[in-house]
Amino acid sequence: MSETAPDCIFCKIVAGEIPADVLGRNDHAVSIKDLNPQAPFHALVITVDHHDNAAASAAADKASIGHLVALADEVARESGNADYRLIANTGTGAGQTVFHTHLHVLGGSPRMSETL
Ligand code: 5GP
Ligand code: ZN
Repeated sequence: MSETAPDCIFCKIVAGEIPADVLGRNDHAVSIKDLNPQAPFHALVITVDHHDNAAASAAADKASIGHLVALADEVARESGNADYRLIANTGTGAGQTVFHTHLHVLGGSPRMSETL
């Protein structure tokens, strides 16, 4: 049984209760297109289990971040973006708005999305 949190939008996307453009998945992570893209290619890679941020996921299971990075690389390459940028905002002061572990995967131009 996966860990979920009530009223978490990413838990609902992982469960298929809210629609999203799914780019790929593995047993531990789901990748979707970001609703509000900040780069020519902008995907999110979301953990299946609910934790507030990447550090909390790593504290629960160090391998969880490895699964995220592996799926990020897969979806980036499949979309023709072998060069890409990964971002994990942690805390409101860093711009985090959804408190369920995710990586932003940005591709398509160098040094894109300094604002993310
Ligand atoms: P954060 O600001 O927490 O680092 O990133 C959250 C990201 O989730 C934002 O880039 C935002 O556009 C994206 N987002 C928020 N709600 C949804 C949604 O319902 N569907 C999708 N596909 N992306 C979302
Ligand atoms: Zn969640």
